[in-house]
Amino acid sequence: MNPESIGGLIRRIRREKGMTQLQLAEKLHISDRTISKWERGAGCPDISLLPPLCQALDIPTDTLLSGGLPPISKEAGHMKKTKFFVCPQCGNILTAAGDARIICCGMALSPLEAKKPEGQEDLIIEQVEDEYYITSPHEMTKNHFITFLAHLTGERLILLRQYPEWDLGARLPRRGRGMLYWYCSRHGLFRKLCE
Ligand SMILES: [Zn+2]
Ligand SMILES: [Zn+2]
Repeated sequence: MNPESIGGLIRRIRREKGMTQLQLAEKLHISDRTISKWERGAGCPDISLLPPLCQALDIPTDTLLSGGLPPISKEAGHMKKTKFFVCPQCGNILTAAGDARIICCGMALSPLEAKKPEGQEDLIIEQVEDEYYITSPHEMTKNHFITFLAHLTGERLILLRQYPEWDLGARLPRRGRGMLYWYCSRHGLFRKLCE
């Protein structure tokens, strides 16, 4: 156990989670001076505090003990494996072409699971010359609308933001086989092949 790397990790994750030293201390029923001491590398958490500490930071115990997060997998960087993240707090849209730890508004976001569209949630893809023309009868009200469309091929991602009160309609260049993704503010992420 290296107190400096453990302390550095505690500080980093605490900040990512938007927690103050005092807030973290209160969860563990200890003083904030103790947290400050750990973060400066002037001491290590007592074994009995490891489980509640790791729970508060939302990381596995062995990650804390090794003082670092495991390396991102080498598979990273494949466009076709692009993952989408939407922050429930601010609506931010983020993508990663591989494993990633995405934090927004102090929250760790999980990659969205794309579903098969059915009925109302489906989009209509028409081919108009060298473009795809995408429309949908889907509701576009503030409480229920498609927030973005994304077209993904092996080497390119096009992301188009959509807005409530506007009819959904998007043109995308037709270039090879790709996957169309879209996100409904109420029902989540969908995808279907676009060819
Ligand atoms: Zn956010
Ligand atoms: Zn919907």
